[in-house]
Amino acid sequence: MKHRAGFVNIIGNPNVGKSTLMNAFVGEKLSIITSKAQTTRHRILGLVNGDDFQIIFSDTPGIIKPAYELQESMMDFVKSAFDDADILVYMVEVGESELKDEAFFNKIKRSKIPVLLLINKIDNSNQEEVEKKVNYWKEKVPNAEVYVISALENFNVEPVFERIVSLLPPSPPYFPKDQLTDKPERFFVNEKIREKILLNYKKEIPYAVEVETEEFTESDDIIRIRSVIMVERDSQKGIIIGHKGSALKRVGSEARKDLEKFFDKKVYLDLYVKINKNWRSDKNQLRRFGYQE
Ligand code: GDP
Ligand code: MG
Repeated sequence: MKHRAGFVNIIGNPNVGKSTLMNAFVGEKLSIITSKAQTTRHRILGLVNGDDFQIIFSDTPGIIKPAYELQESMMDFVKSAFDDADILVYMVEVGESELKDEAFFNKIKRSKIPVLLLINKIDNSNQEEVEKKVNYWKEKVPNAEVYVISALENFNVEPVFERIVSLLPPSPPYFPKDQLTDKPERFFVNEKIREKILLNYKKEIPYAVEVETEEFTESDDIIRIRSVIMVERDSQKGIIIGHKGSALKRVGSEARKDLEKFFDKKVYLDLYVKINKNWRSDKNQLRRFGYQE
């Protein structure tokens, strides 16, 4: 049987469940998930390998109108998702009726490649509303195949997966068959720490934070990690650390537990906080953190 492989790009508004879906497909927590918009900043690939196929899922940041340089770069990741896709997965949630960016929306409607439109979070809805939404979206994006799913509860995810497999073009694999993702281990450490920051701090704090892992040393029985949490201002540094270091300690211990599961090994995690003024608007810094080519 001939081998098939292709890129499947998942796009949509912030918070509709794109990362949850990719993790459901891949079966690992590659992408961090929180209830906050802009949790995903990079484009993250997740691979699913079968004997005669390879699917390269690509999770992207939610589509927004960029307000600063970091967000510009985030939208470049979304644009590049259009360019190399073999199949487009356009995700909406039950409550929503249009994409925030019209240019993207028109691109989807004129797409030459297959479009699967997934209406997610139907666990939050009822039969009547779901049927209404299906009709609405079929009319709005006539070139799409419409599915209703719950990524969180893994409802109807399998038929979508099967459909994707059947749409893959003939091609040899793009990545080694035992590989799970294109990102290095340090990337997942940074993302896991960022997830805990998103969950533990309010308002603008998480958006001002970038994490960089300076040391990752693996031995037979333990991984030693040292990561720096960068903030833009002195006041933010105080908030991250918290009273007698309590807040930072909590982030560290929550992240360490998840990382031990992810790597299946004991982890020693050393965290510290540094001020890095205006990194979000600095092209050189964004390049260093992997947001620009
Ligand atoms: P993304 O911004 O599109 O990547 O969305 P995420 O995958 O980060 O999910 C955003 C929020 O929606 C999280 O709180 C998820 O737990 C939640 N979510 C995702 N899928 C579903 C679903 O099928 N049903 C419900 N009720 N919540 C979901
Ligand atoms: Mg996401």
